[in-house]
Amino acid sequence: MYDKKIGRNDPCWCGSQIKYKKCHLFRDKQEPMKHWEINREFNNVNSRKKCSCPDSFNESCTGNVIRAHTVPKTSSLKAISDAGHVLGLKMSYEAIRKNRGRPLLEKIGINHASTFNGFCKYHDDVIFAPLEKESFVASQKQCFLLAYRAFAREYYAIVGAQELSTLRHGADKGKHIEAQFDIQMNNFLYELGNRAAIEDLNYHKSYFDSALENDDFSTARAVIFTFDEAPPVMVCGGTNPDFDFDGNPVQDLMDLMKRTDNLSVTSYYDGEKGIIAFSWLENSDETCCKVMSSLLHKDREEYVPIIIQYMFKNFENVFVSPKWWESESETNRKILMKLFGDNISTNISPNANGITKPLSVYNFPQLRDVITVGSPLSTEP
Ligand SMILES: [Zn+2]
Ligand SMILES: [Zn+2]
Repeated sequence: MYDKKIGRNDPCWCGSQIKYKKCHLFRDKQEPMKHWEINREFNNVNSRKKCSCPDSFNESCTGNVIRAHTVPKTSSLKAISDAGHVLGLKMSYEAIRKNRGRPLLEKIGINHASTFNGFCKYHDDVIFAPLEKESFVASQKQCFLLAYRAFAREYYAIVGAQELSTLRHGADKGKHIEAQFDIQMNNFLYELGNRAAIEDLNYHKSYFDSALENDDFSTARAVIFTFDEAPPVMVCGGTNPDFDFDGNPVQDLMDLMKRTDNLSVTSYYDGEKGIIAFSWLENSDETCCKVMSSLLHKDREEYVPIIIQYMFKNFENVFVSPKWWESESETNRKILMKLFGDNISTNISPNANGITKPLSVYNFPQLRDVITVGSPLSTEP
């Protein structure tokens, strides 16, 4: 057996760099972690306070780090709320445990929906003023800020996931040796992927930061869909697209040595029109241009259902109007929750289900315009 060969003072087999005697020796006899301990750690990490501004702006950080909304509260969330609530996914350990890992849309107060502790009061105000205080004219700066906010949230979340590694490492306390091997093997693969993701996001962060530092937003690109009213589905998220809207693979996310391209999707309401924006920076042109032109090549009436499905398929930071959700048929809700489940599950292999064609007809405000910003996008077939 393994534990007869390994010395008490040898580095532990699990890769922790800790001596075996202080790590996995007698792990099976240790007290399993309590739910409240896991919950506390989870909440600590997900409420940690850190301004996401470029390091060179740190001196001007003032005020406390606040609960910043990624979907604006007063204009957007309020517009789709019912008695102060929207529907969304509760991302707490308690909620995940209660729902046994199945995604469930639950009522969330608009003060809490879409927030993260990722900007100080000053930078949240100053950096995002062109979005919060001006109507949306699809300027490159506004398009940049939409991508930036989604990116900052993504970055905050992934660093948080990294900080939970101690928790993951202790998940096998009290379990027998085979289960310990399984758990630590999963952890190892998870950490490997997570580290690659952080390196990747650091690479993107340098592009976002330098645009802010130089006040030069010429690298921003976007395809904007505008609507007569507030979109009943609000989202703010970043993704590394693996398929285009025709189902063709566009980048290999399993190749950990290669930088991945990043696409943000944001919806909001500026008080006059609804907006769903796909935005990215120049360094992600290769993938994002392919992805977006594959959408624009479709029939115009297919845009909206496919976009709705795309939002459910790719993001967990999604907020839904309770009235709209009720107005949709049982079948439609099932379709969308199935896509939402694909997104959250870790054991479904990547696929393009639900993004290549409309799976149903949904109620949605009238599409007004499609605007392409700053992009070398080709609309030739
Ligand atoms: Zn160990
Ligand atoms: Zn700050």
